Amino acid sequence: MALAWEGRCFCMSTGLRVCAQSQSGVARFVQQWQNVIVSTPAMPRKNLRRSAIVVLDQEKGHNGRVAVAPRDRHLDFGEKWSYAPAPEAHDYIKLQPRYQLFIGGKFVAPRSGKYFPSINPATEEKLAEIAEADARDIDLAVKSAHRAYKNVWSKLPGRERAKFLYRIARLIQEKARELAVLETMDGGKTIKESRDIDLPLVAAHFFYYAGWADKLEYAFPGRTARALGVAGQIIPWNFPLLMAAWKLAPALACGNTCVLKPAETTSITAMHLAQILQEAELPDGVVNIVTGAGETGKALVDHSDINKIAFTGSTSVGKILTQAVAGTNKRLTLELGGKAANIIFEDAPIDQAVEGIISGIYFNQGHVCCAGSRLLVQEGVFPAVIRKLRDRIATLRVGNPLDKNTDIGAINSRMQLEKICELVDSGLKQGAELVQSNARLPAKGYWYPPSFFTGVTASHRIAQEEIFGPVLSVMTFRTPEEAIERANNTPYGLSAGIWTDKGSKIFKIVSKLRAGVVWANTYNKFDPTSPFGGYKESGFGREGGRHGLLPYVTLS
Ligand code: NDP
Repeated sequence: MALAWEGRCFCMSTGLRVCAQSQSGVARFVQQWQNVIVSTPAMPRKNLRRSAIVVLDQEKGHNGRVAVAPRDRHLDFGEKWSYAPAPEAHDYIKLQPRYQLFIGGKFVAPRSGKYFPSINPATEEKLAEIAEADARDIDLAVKSAHRAYKNVWSKLPGRERAKFLYRIARLIQEKARELAVLETMDGGKTIKESRDIDLPLVAAHFFYYAGWADKLEYAFPGRTARALGVAGQIIPWNFPLLMAAWKLAPALACGNTCVLKPAETTSITAMHLAQILQEAELPDGVVNIVTGAGETGKALVDHSDINKIAFTGSTSVGKILTQAVAGTNKRLTLELGGKAANIIFEDAPIDQAVEGIISGIYFNQGHVCCAGSRLLVQEGVFPAVIRKLRDRIATLRVGNPLDKNTDIGAINSRMQLEKICELVDSGLKQGAELVQSNARLPAKGYWYPPSFFTGVTASHRIAQEEIFGPVLSVMTFRTPEEAIERANNTPYGLSAGIWTDKGSKIFKIVSKLRAGVVWANTYNKFDPTSPFGGYKESGFGREGGRHGLLPYVTLS
């Protein structure tokens, strides 16, 4: 039973790794597991308590072997059944020692003469230096975007704009593997994710919006859609190229020009995208890319000649931006944080649901605004779900993100790792129980093992705040009404998931969930044709689909 697991499993509070085989570790592990297993309806409470506490001795059969209940038996091949390393080649990648700003179609040095390092979070090695733009550089970029808007881009018919977008999409496809490797090196996400999810979606967004560029009258029948002018676009570090595509493709399709600011920790692929824009012969100044920290973003937001701000990032910065544009003519869309409920009903296909939980929270190391970070499980299936989840996280491979077998890569930055640790500590202090896989973490780099909390209450910080890491908070519910109430009990409203075999239940529940996106019997599925965005503190405005055109046009 649980103890067969213990030999392989570790309980870990942040910074302190305790082997469950040590005496204190066992006591602690047992204490944690009592709460999970004691509620198993199929087994009497007293038996469970005994088997959880008694360390193997009392479970021994006559032949001295440990008696393990059939349902808790696991095949354990030890090290003999592990994957061989399958590292993606990266020696051909041409990293520049320094990346300049991309303004007016050229790479130019920042006025400040300052650069900051970009670190590979998996190795802590410096990859390159990135130019730090200040208000003077922002001014140049905005002026260049204005010139390009006035003289070239606003005069091109939609079908001509579409040709550029198609060309960019094809070039991205051609260079997809190289860009995926760069994305992985710069941000820490696994190569299988950047290769199979991010890059195909980046190209798909440009293809999709290329299709709309000459069909705006069909997007808004009976209305005339006109571009806004210059869009200032600020993106985060969790999906650097994908967020650039989400922002640039619809803006350009609608006839706007852009000034894009990538996140400080993940600027490299944006500069490689700039090279692609040059190669696609996009007219100078139509897209400008300025790198830097929060101050650079602030200068962009404050610039008086910006017509629209599109932002993806934290709710706290989103609030600052809302204040900054209040009283101006700037249009604003915000895609902010989330604390999504992933709801598992008793009639759900449990094995598939567990896979949905895994992709919901551990995809991209949990650095996902729409991550299913609050798991709501109906009480009857709670023990089974927890048991399967516990087994499944033990199989997740954490480590070198460039290895094609890796499931969980590096945490994006030291700062983000500290934030995750701080929130996990708060969960432990507030009385929740932590379960972590015993994945061996590399000595260098920023890592966090796949983890989940049980015994979470709605008032815990880990149930309310975005952890933005591979840490799940599990709670239970009894009735559909309680599930809805718990799911909506958050200041956020970005996404949710529901698992049941009843279609009617899906429709009934979904209509009551206050979330911009709800996945049914799946999770974290993205498509350029589908609108994405939130309610409440998750922001406003939609990206993707026909809806994604609306923030970039005025209609008359
Ligand atoms: P931020 O919101 O700070 O960063 C998002 C972008 O905004 C970055 O490009 C950032 O620049 C820029 N920025 C920061 N401050 C300002 C400002 N005052 N004016 C204009 N632009 C600004 O997110 P963090 O990277 O600091 O992450 C903090 C937390 O936010 C995470 O732990 C997570 O919870 C959440 N988050 C949510 C995301 C989402 O998709 N909803 C994405 C990323 C984070 P720079 O990076 O250079 O500071």
